Order: sequence, then C-alpha cells, then structure tokens
Amino acid sequence: MWANYHTHTHYCDGKGSFKDFLHRDQVKSIGFSSHAPLPFSSPWAMKQEMLPAYLKEIEKLKNTETSIEIYSGLEVDYVPNLIGPSDFTQPDYTIGSVHFADTFPDGTHWEVDGIHTLFLDGLKSIFNNNFRAAWGRYFELTRQMLKESPPTILGHMDKMKIQNQDSKFFTEDEPWYQQEIKKTIEIIKTSGVIVEVNTRGLYQKKSKTPYPSPWILQLLKASNIPITLSSDAHHPSQLISEFESTAQILIQSGFKKLSILTGNEWKEVNFNANGIYFE
Ligand SMILES: [Zn+2]
Ligand SMILES: [Zn+2]
Repeated sequence: MWANYHTHTHYCDGKGSFKDFLHRDQVKSIGFSSHAPLPFSSPWAMKQEMLPAYLKEIEKLKNTETSIEIYSGLEVDYVPNLIGPSDFTQPDYTIGSVHFADTFPDGTHWEVDGIHTLFLDGLKSIFNNNFRAAWGRYFELTRQMLKESPPTILGHMDKMKIQNQDSKFFTEDEPWYQQEIKKTIEIIKTSGVIVEVNTRGLYQKKSKTPYPSPWILQLLKASNIPITLSSDAHHPSQLISEFESTAQILIQSGFKKLSILTGNEWKEVNFNANGIYFE
C-alpha cells in the first residue's frame, strides 16, 4: 500500500473522476492536485470558475469514503508577481511547481517542460541559446518560490532535464549544474518544504531517472530533507506507476521514511519496495 499526493483528474488535464482514482488495493491515503487556475490562458490548468466545485467535491468524498484517507491539494505554478502557492490557502496542501521561465517577446509565458520544439524556441529567443542561463533561471525561480511563496511540497524539482535527453546540452556532473542544485537544496533546507520524488518521467519514457535524479536524492538525504513519492498521475491507471522501482532507488539513497498525510497531519512513515508500513 502506498500514498500519493500528485494526481490530476478531469478538473484539469487529467482523465477520470476523483472516484476513479480510489484504488483501495494501492493507496491508503490520496491527495488530488489539479493544476491551479492561471492568470493567463493555458490548455492544462483548471478554469477559475471550477475551483469552488473542485474543493467541494473533494470535501464531500472525504465524508463518504471510509477506506482511504482523502486530501485536497493544488499544483500551483510560480510566476513572479502573478501567481504562487501561498495564494491558495483553501486546500489541505499545495505542490509548488515551476513550469514557466520568463516570457517570449510577445509576452507569452515560456513553458520549460512542454514539447521540445517550443523549448528550443524559448531558449533561442529569450536566452540567446545560452542553456546554462536558462537552467539557471529555472532554479533561480524555484528558489524564489521557496522564499517568497512556499508550497507544502516542492514538485518535480529537476523536470526541465527532459529537455536534456541523451545529455544533449550538458551532463549532470558538470560543476555549474551541481552548484545550482546545491544552492537550491540550501534554500529547501531553510524553507521546511517536503520534496517530491516524481515517477512520471519514467513511465512516460521522458526520463531514465525519477525527478529528481538519484545523485540529487543522495544530497537531499544527506540534508535530512523529508520526501514524498508520487506519480503525477493523469489517469487512474498511473496511480502507483514505477513506485516499486523508485522506492528501491530511494532505499539505495539511504531513505527509510516517506512523508504521508494521515489524520490531517504530515507524518514520516517507514517504507520498503512494496509500500509504506507502520511499526
Ligand atoms: Zn507539474
Ligand atoms: Zn502534475
């Protein structure tokens, strides 16, 4: 049995209703985390007018479901002066995720984890093809979010690496990249957030490693930073995809506990490759 706090239903770009995700043989605690409404147009975010119904439907389900603990969440973007996780106080928790870095000359927000051709367009027109500056900006925005608008959970912290398949731009052992990660971990430490270990890149075959990479997991462990394991499911069939293999990576990285929500509180519980367990 597992817990998962990163799931997307039909309220945003996911498939299926809340009930479709209640796989009683897979999870004992679940959180829903639709993309929070954005102050500009987006094909994947929830519409602003749907937010009250979203929260109400989750509350209703909490009262009727007895075998799984249910929590309300939102995956919130961080765009300076426009939106951040601390703007949303209604759900039980927030996941703060950076999906945008700066804007094209026409004002369109550049999505850094979208299709690769769009990534290349932004890299050229916003960063003059300076990929180190682009990655630096991405992590700078992550640190700024943690300081100015901290979420409960930091979402997929190195997801921009999907644009660096086959080390097209750099290898992760380059000192400048390691420095960006280490600087970010310093801010994670002081912000008190939980870091998400996200399996979506693995089962979507966009990444050979989870977000974040195993060497980053080792640094997080060395700093005693709490983690959650999640699948970023956009379909009920993805609820615990690659959990077993990723749990093994976590064990190899030295982790013995996962953070879960139980009794309305975040608690660290034991886990092995088969799931979480209580002593
Ligand atoms: Zn995301
Ligand atoms: Zn997500």
